[in-house]
Amino acid sequence: MAEETIFSKIIRKEIPADVLYQDEMVTAFRDINPRAPSHILIIPNKLLPTVNDIEADDEAMMGRLFTVARKLAKDEGIAENGYRLIVNCNPHGGQEVYHIHMHLVGGRPLGPMIVG
Ligand code: 5GP
Repeated sequence: MAEETIFSKIIRKEIPADVLYQDEMVTAFRDINPRAPSHILIIPNKLLPTVNDIEADDEAMMGRLFTVARKLAKDEGIAENGYRLIVNCNPHGGQEVYHIHMHLVGGRPLGPMIVG
């Protein structure tokens, strides 16, 4: 059984967060430490620690992360100029919170993708 993180408490509204969207599959809220004018985390409501834990049955839920990212990018007014979607996995990927999350980052030119 995977261990819950602070993100499960945000999903259940047990701790405050700037929640922008929630449905039966996913929740989206602003990152507490934004790296750009728009920095939103989109997470599945079901606890999967990393991308390595995704199963075939999770495909619809994981696809929902993208459709919600698209909607939120439009709502934020950053769709036309563009943005970046990032999913970190495990220590080499820089993952800090072990509940899968997609970062939606934009609102300024982000420059080339940084790998290291
Ligand atoms: P990671 O490095 O795991 O891909 O990203 C984790 C992200 O979660 C970081 O950008 C961090 O700022 C954000 N974060 C960590 N704890 C909280 C929290 O309690 N609330 C919110 N809104 N964001 C958090």
